[in-house]
Amino acid sequence: MSRDPQPAGASPQTGILPLRPELVGAQPYGAPQLDVPVRLNTNENPYPPPQAVVDAAAEAVRVQVASLNRYPDREALELRRDLADYLRSDTGVALDAAHVWAANGSNEVMVQVLQAFGGPGRTAMAFTPTYSMYPEYARDTHTAWVTGHRGDDFTLTPESAAAQVRDRAPDVVFMASPNNPTGTALPLDVVTAVHDATAGVVVVDEAYAEFRRAGTPSAMSLLEGRPRLIVTRTMSKAFAFAGARLGYAAADPAVVAALRIVRLPYHLSAVSQAVARVALAHAPELQRDVARLRSSRDGLVTWLRAHGFEVPDSDANFVLVGRFDDRRAVWEGLLEHGVLVREVGPPEWLRVTVGTEQEIDRLTSALAAVTGRATAQQEREVGR
Ligand SMILES: *Cc1c(COP(=O)(O)O)cnc(C)c1O
Repeated sequence: MSRDPQPAGASPQTGILPLRPELVGAQPYGAPQLDVPVRLNTNENPYPPPQAVVDAAAEAVRVQVASLNRYPDREALELRRDLADYLRSDTGVALDAAHVWAANGSNEVMVQVLQAFGGPGRTAMAFTPTYSMYPEYARDTHTAWVTGHRGDDFTLTPESAAAQVRDRAPDVVFMASPNNPTGTALPLDVVTAVHDATAGVVVVDEAYAEFRRAGTPSAMSLLEGRPRLIVTRTMSKAFAFAGARLGYAAADPAVVAALRIVRLPYHLSAVSQAVARVALAHAPELQRDVARLRSSRDGLVTWLRAHGFEVPDSDANFVLVGRFDDRRAVWEGLLEHGVLVREVGPPEWLRVTVGTEQEIDRLTSALAAVTGRATAQQEREVGR
């Protein structure tokens, strides 16, 4: 199933248009949306929202539709209050609506950050390998783009991160924690070192924070007294709500005030606000699926390492797996077994989203077959 109106790889006829030169030949972002049985390529939550959420959201939409002749609450105040309550329950950090901002996915929040704090003559930075959307936000907001780099094991030390930031003097730094595509979370001393090494704003992108292992901290606890720090989150992953497009940021109220200046009028629909509030009201139920995915993730990491694959520690709902001399061949082999993973990140690695237990079984059998390594099941049979 290709949902794109353009066949994959087709270039639009941009030659006839007065397009900005930096956009000529560019492809829209997105992983292939292929119709295969096991889709482990976009870090979605494999468990759909529970029936109670479906029913309550349907009722909430019914109520909203009756007044869709009116624009929504453009401050999304009730939603922001609920998000603040949720963050307090997840991190123990006391926040209120004035510290929270919401938009259509955390992607929109981060573009708004560049609209407010980046732009012509300014520079944004991230440490590669990392989320491939960051340079696109920079391009789209006319912000210059520079990169720093992570160590060979994809981690960052406070000294290295701070030195690279001082060297490049960015106005905005993006740091994903846990990082996509590596799964690695940042120690808080890296965040504080980067913050202290720049006069710009520092965005910690915590899209996968709810999947972090016990003991892995959230940067929310650093917000107090750091008005240039912004922590973004999303309902796309842990809340099984990717289709609803709801992301948010926690920051000093002055940051929220700045983002309100650049947001489009009534950017967040009444329907989005209402269904997001329903999902937040059911957070404890949704967290059960998150707990299940965390334990599946840990099991998958153990299996992969036991079979000789390299896997960086993951605090996310995906793992980076390597190393492959020819990752394209492995990617294609898995696809032949009905398993779609993501060819992304450094060249010898593939990224695999943690699916249901059955999907993980399909993945491990396929990976064993494609790479010639025995599955645990086959080993048990041999041992019997
Ligand atoms: C998935 C993801 C997001 C979430 O994007 P939304 O727009 O909220 O769906 C943000 N950052 C990273 C690194 C991601 O992988």
